[in-house]
Amino acid sequence: MVNKSFHITTYGCQMNEHDSETIAGMLLERGYTRAEDQKSADIVIFNTCSIRENADNRFLGTLGQLKKRKVASLKDLTICVCGCMMQQPQVVDEMKEKFPWVDVIFGTHNIHEFPELLEKYFAKNKRQRSVWEEHGEIVEGLPCDRLFRHKAFVNIMYGCNNFCTYCIVPYTRGRERSRKPEDIVNEVRRLAADGVREIMLLGQNVNSYKGVDADGVQRDFTDLIYMLNEIEGLERIRFMTSHPKDLSDKLIQAFVDCKKLARWIHLPMQAGSSAVLKRMNRRYTREQYLELVRKLRAAVPDIAISTDIIVGFPGETEEDFEQTLTLCEEVRYDSAFTFMYSIRRGTPAEKYEDQVPEEIKHARFDRLVETVNRISIEKNAAYVGRTEEILVDGPGRNGEENFGGRTNTFKLVNFEGTPDMVGKKFMVKITDSNTFSLVGEVVSEV
Ligand code: SF4
Repeated sequence: MVNKSFHITTYGCQMNEHDSETIAGMLLERGYTRAEDQKSADIVIFNTCSIRENADNRFLGTLGQLKKRKVASLKDLTICVCGCMMQQPQVVDEMKEKFPWVDVIFGTHNIHEFPELLEKYFAKNKRQRSVWEEHGEIVEGLPCDRLFRHKAFVNIMYGCNNFCTYCIVPYTRGRERSRKPEDIVNEVRRLAADGVREIMLLGQNVNSYKGVDADGVQRDFTDLIYMLNEIEGLERIRFMTSHPKDLSDKLIQAFVDCKKLARWIHLPMQAGSSAVLKRMNRRYTREQYLELVRKLRAAVPDIAISTDIIVGFPGETEEDFEQTLTLCEEVRYDSAFTFMYSIRRGTPAEKYEDQVPEEIKHARFDRLVETVNRISIEKNAAYVGRTEEILVDGPGRNGEENFGGRTNTFKLVNFEGTPDMVGKKFMVKITDSNTFSLVGEVVSEV
């Protein structure tokens, strides 16, 4: 029995959240225990993200603060770093130079090796650094300690082939690899039998999924959705993230046919100007994007649509930016993640000469946030008076009796409840709305 506790800090997207669930699962299986917080942990793990500059900075700041504790504790504190940042060789070199007291470094392609690296570190008292440049075979059957008992992340593919010019992911997560359909279906069956009611299918670009089944037949993402829709006990299927260029009519039809497929799609737009989209290498135009939204709404009138938007991409003119604003007005997103462009080392856009000055980026960002928030407020207000089916996730932020859950359309609803409601479905009458959430009263259990 290993007498050591661990704590994981996760930065970035759901893929990283899920990787952290796997890391926790592997450690728990070997007898390590979870620490309540970072301060009381024997092993501190950072799962890093390299998609935005501020995530890098937050991580490096926290790592710097740990130095004192590491020096004072000598061998008692073990510091491990993994995730996308570690897939960049120059970052690992910098880490060696600036943070030589980090004990174990590993990458996104060899998460399964982590327990062995940790044990080697303890046995030899020698720092371990193992980052695979290339991905290997997909490793199936790793344990996973889920964040929620009633819902789960399920990776269906890894990597990305798209090479958007601002994005580091294809360099840190490698090329696209899809899991076999039967491995995914079997995993979801096991999850459903274990009480999972909702799954989030994960991948950098889920709708380019191409898995080959046991008979050698290639299955696409929509085929997979139809298969998962049949699984007994499973009630909701969501997915993230989808690329507009791969959103097929077949997938739109699945929203109509598959009752378990939730009426919500995250469809990153990134920019409203076709010229900017071209420089981003997004491979769709403004018009094509709007046509997809039209088709989605024609098939599922109340589908909720969320998005990602970048402002201040190199070469973005005032006119380009205004096209982003008008596209937001046309689509009327339920919510949007908004970002100011920041240079990512090693990407093509790093070399673009016409970088937008910081003050212009900030001013455009403020205008964009004002627009998307106003629309979110209006969209959320339209829910007031409706009664929605909510899957209860857990306690909310506003006191002991406050609980939160999601509608089918992924709206967060807060209401008064009790701990025994978690993981169950209730009909909740929406009584009020805010920018990012709704407020309701429980009517009955479903
Ligand atoms: S689709 Fe584009 S933005 Fe998304 S992970 Fe791939 S390269 Fe990055």
